[in-house]
Amino acid sequence: MTPAPLSVAAQDGRLLDGGAPPPDSPLAIRGLTVSYGEKPAVFSVDATFPARAMSAIIGPNGAGKSTLLKAALGVIPRVAGEVRVFGTPVERARDRIAYVPQRASVDWDFPTTVIDVVQMGLYRKLGLLGRMTGALTRRAQDCLARVGMADFAHRQIGQLSGGQQQRVFLARALAQEADLYLLDEPFAGVDAATERAIVEVLKTLRAQGKAVVAVHHDLSTVRGYFDHVFLINTRRIAEGPVATAFTAANLHATYGGRLAVAQIDALALAGTAAAGAAP
Ligand code: ADP
Ligand code: MG
Repeated sequence: MTPAPLSVAAQDGRLLDGGAPPPDSPLAIRGLTVSYGEKPAVFSVDATFPARAMSAIIGPNGAGKSTLLKAALGVIPRVAGEVRVFGTPVERARDRIAYVPQRASVDWDFPTTVIDVVQMGLYRKLGLLGRMTGALTRRAQDCLARVGMADFAHRQIGQLSGGQQQRVFLARALAQEADLYLLDEPFAGVDAATERAIVEVLKTLRAQGKAVVAVHHDLSTVRGYFDHVFLINTRRIAEGPVATAFTAANLHATYGGRLAVAQIDALALAGTAAAGAAP
């Protein structure tokens, strides 16, 4: 119960050895190892995501980003480690989390309508004996309107464009009225208008005090969209505010030869300038 480790953890996002995760962190992960076979997909990862912020998880293909998110959701077995959501073991905090899966992982041929997909987000709150009342259907409709999909409620999901599908899954997450939003590559394969619409919705969530954690593949928009960044390549490479953690050195360590040096330098340039300008 010493305050010092907590303040240090809050400052640079790292957890000190033996220090408890900050109790107010929307998502705090300690010593997480997940393995599908012999080789771990995520190895001994500590991560602390800040409240009232938008955080990006970045790293190369196969780095364990989706695995980290699924473990944060408590839906895949852990070899080791602990996941706390607002200070509570994730297994007891699931109803505070909304999740938007990687679009490629969803079966879009599944015969269901847009409004059904959004209402599915409500069943956990309803419980076994709950009924889909008029009020809940209206809530689902409101959430579709918030993502600009009000006119598509009765369309089959398989008949939507990639951007529209992503908006519907975001509406489903909104309907859950969660406190922590986990999104896996929400901007992958969507048009520019959808990307702007999703960013606005996420910023509104942040303004409402929610925490947003998104796996993000486009390094050129990290600075524009996010407050906090977590870099992973099976192991934790770095984490912290974008201004201090999104650096050339950390990108080199995360991507190695997979990003050209010139690319990395261009991406990190703004950060170097900002750090130089700081008092
Ligand atoms: P990322 O999202 O960063 O691209 P993933 O978390 O999807 O990475 O995958 C991390 C590693 O785990 C990869 O090597 C991937 O092939 C492997 N992996 C992911 N899901 C499974 C699975 N269901 N079964 C076996 N291996 C998997
Ligand atoms: Mg992935």
